[in-house]
Amino acid sequence: MDKGFVMREGENGFERAIAILEMIYKLPDNLSEEDVEAAKNFVFPELQHTVIGLLELPADRELELFFFRLLLGILKEAQNAQAEGKKLVFIPFTFPPEIFYAFDNIFPLCTEIVGGLITNICYGQGERFWDFAMGLGLPDSLCSANTIGTMPFFMGPGLRADAIVYNSAGSCNPNAKIHAFASDYLGIPQFILEKPVDESARGRELYFEYLKRFVQELEEWSGSEMREERLREVMEKSYQAVELYNEFWELKKARPCPVPNIFSMTLLVLRSQCWGRQEAVDVMQKMVDMSKERLRTGEYTADEELARVYITYIYWLFDFAGYFTWMEKEGITILGDILAIHYFPEMDFSSKESMLRGMADIAFDYPMTRQMGGESISMRWLDDVAWAAQDLGADACIFGGVHACKHTLGTAAYFRREMMKRAGLPTLMLTGDVFDKRHTPMEMFQEEVKTFVDQVVAKKKAPRKRKKVQAGGGAE
Ligand code: SF4
Repeated sequence: MDKGFVMREGENGFERAIAILEMIYKLPDNLSEEDVEAAKNFVFPELQHTVIGLLELPADRELELFFFRLLLGILKEAQNAQAEGKKLVFIPFTFPPEIFYAFDNIFPLCTEIVGGLITNICYGQGERFWDFAMGLGLPDSLCSANTIGTMPFFMGPGLRADAIVYNSAGSCNPNAKIHAFASDYLGIPQFILEKPVDESARGRELYFEYLKRFVQELEEWSGSEMREERLREVMEKSYQAVELYNEFWELKKARPCPVPNIFSMTLLVLRSQCWGRQEAVDVMQKMVDMSKERLRTGEYTADEELARVYITYIYWLFDFAGYFTWMEKEGITILGDILAIHYFPEMDFSSKESMLRGMADIAFDYPMTRQMGGESISMRWLDDVAWAAQDLGADACIFGGVHACKHTLGTAAYFRREMMKRAGLPTLMLTGDVFDKRHTPMEMFQEEVKTFVDQVVAKKKAPRKRKKVQAGGGAE
């Protein structure tokens, strides 16, 4: 293990993650198997799973190198934003980043993406940051995704945001509370966008008014108006990516699925941090092109696609190799999770007002905000996942979330029963924490999934044998 990679106490996890990620520039464009092996052996054991998860399979390798280089550029922009006279704002992954890119002098940094980077790149996998939060006396009912993401900013020197935004008030308390606490602890302003649970036209209209007020508050605070031309530029980029997102969705319907499993993680990061920028368009384009080519040539990693699963909440995110790559090699296709379900209205680019109205619809229907902030959590969650799973031809569902997701855990039994009744899809319920391996280690996860696929999914797919009826009426 290179001791230079060990994070020192008090060091900022965000900066450490960027420094380690820099090694990606040293890798050649056309990585060979030997290069991947060398890269794996160069890093400490926990990071080896990230290296293998991203680089072992040839299709993943090409895309992820391309993607992480672009992402690193964006993270560095965040790091330098203040020096360039911009204000840095922490945002949650339950909110569209493009609204902040539409400001000339605001730069968004998604706290859960920071949490994910630390978990997959830094020594100790974010556990020290979770433990630090517990040491502060915070309750363990917080969401690990954003707690791990925000704690380095409490702990260490380095980057400090100018403000924090949350839109989860009323939809997810664990998320809202850690962002509120960060604002208080760091002494920075917070901007809140509340979502009414009323899903009728009246509720949406109210939300639109809230969003306009929210933009106005950001304008006053940052000292510059959101320019219509800039908003249009960002929204046009956003909608170029939307077209590719729709194509990407359609490609997943093919059997076997031509879209590699790890691309699901890539989409999640793109949507949470990069949407509205050219990078999101370029990476989406490459994912679509590569998947189309695999479809054309019939390429699939395993000998056979044994199961197509829809993840009912969040992908497990602490071990890329153990999760995405392992499932792909086993012939288990990951079709999506809750964060992959987006609703993009037709956009009217004619005025600032019309684009903000479209933006309000996007934010209202944003993953997690839409389901957990719905009139009925259980119904909205079930409806959305059932629709996605059926549309993409799933054979089964797997539940994974963070241990703080009381909303989902509270309604999980209902979800599983109704999913079976409505769509005939069995759901494997796995408790644990997708950001913290100490709850359910990856080996345990794999064992459960393998048994589920062998015993439930494969049996369900196998043609049922008709029982022979003996003379006299009894079955043989
Ligand atoms: S709904 Fe769950 S995963 Fe999403 S922010 Fe809340 S606690 Fe975290």
